[in-house]
Amino acid sequence: MKALLLLSGGIDSTTALAFYSQKGYELTCLTFNYGQKNQFEIQSSKLFAQLYKVKEHIFVDIDNQIFNSSSSLNSEKEVEKFEYYTPVKDFIPSTYLPSRNIIFLSFATGIAESRQINNIIFSPNKEDSFDYPDCTLDFVEAFSSALNKGTHIGKNSKINILTPFIDKTKSEIIELGLTLNVDYSKTQTCYIPDEKGNPCLKCDACLLRLQSFKKLNMPKFIQP
Ligand SMILES: [Zn+2]
Repeated sequence: MKALLLLSGGIDSTTALAFYSQKGYELTCLTFNYGQKNQFEIQSSKLFAQLYKVKEHIFVDIDNQIFNSSSSLNSEKEVEKFEYYTPVKDFIPSTYLPSRNIIFLSFATGIAESRQINNIIFSPNKEDSFDYPDCTLDFVEAFSSALNKGTHIGKNSKINILTPFIDKTKSEIIELGLTLNVDYSKTQTCYIPDEKGNPCLKCDACLLRLQSFKKLNMPKFIQP
């Protein structure tokens, strides 16, 4: 079975890579460089794609003007720092990338169609759906309907968007990954690591990572 996997170098997509690799899928990976402040993500994605011997690893540059309002790439905007991970409903985080997954999945659809790949693996988790509307099942179903109506491959043989973790928390994903021996010390999470790649431990992504490993009583895997 062939699949195109969106790989960021973070916990969720890396676990998906290990999971589908073990299932015997022939994987092509897709990584975006949109000018994110954490450029170590790209290196991590390369490392994991090589480790799991994927068929092809495609990199797409997206002009950073598109996501200009997001603090995860705009140098004039600061990523919020917190003491505890406290998601707030209907709060738009400064790190939100406008229409990110519509854009990412559109690129993925073009790549999948041009290579005759019928499966796209996309790894949002249950906690993402809280403040990112493009990480919900509702969105995935709507997008899936659009791409199957708007492409020849969709009309002829259907493209599936696989979302293995959409109802799983990050700690549940990590638990699964540990059974697959995923090396989480090499995964990236922080929006604003220092120049050596050390995480800030205060952004909401760092705090969720910390909390997820603490739930599993595994502090040694906390830092990338
Ligand atoms: Zn951080």
